[in-house]
Amino acid sequence: MKFKMNNREWEIKEISQDMFEPTNDPTEQGNCYGLCAYDEQVIYLWKDLHTEQKRRTLIHELLHCYIGCYISFEDIGNYPEDVMCNICANSHDIIHKIVEDYFKPEINVNINVKMNPGVIIKELHKIEKE
Ligand SMILES: [Zn+2]
Repeated sequence: MKFKMNNREWEIKEISQDMFEPTNDPTEQGNCYGLCAYDEQVIYLWKDLHTEQKRRTLIHELLHCYIGCYISFEDIGNYPEDVMCNICANSHDIIHKIVEDYFKPEINVNINVKMNPGVIIKELHKIEKE
């Protein structure tokens, strides 16, 4: 899925975990579930994650993306708490919308061509309510 962050076009791609390069960074602990590749403008997600972990990982990577696209003081070290709170408050609506779009369930509509238009409209209303 493609999305825009501060007028730059990004893409979310799901890949198998063996495609993630091992990190030598001692601050990166645990498994690598996702990656925000600024140079490619791509967010990579491990495709086999449980949906709940995938959602959480996507939010994490989108925050990296937001910080990289909007904040120009990455090198000041640890953010003061209020700065972190402002980043979360400012980015929340943008990130929430992308995550909702990404996990929106696909609706498959099978329309029987023999149905009359009234029946088709009724069927579509049923799907809308689901
Ligand atoms: Zn991270």
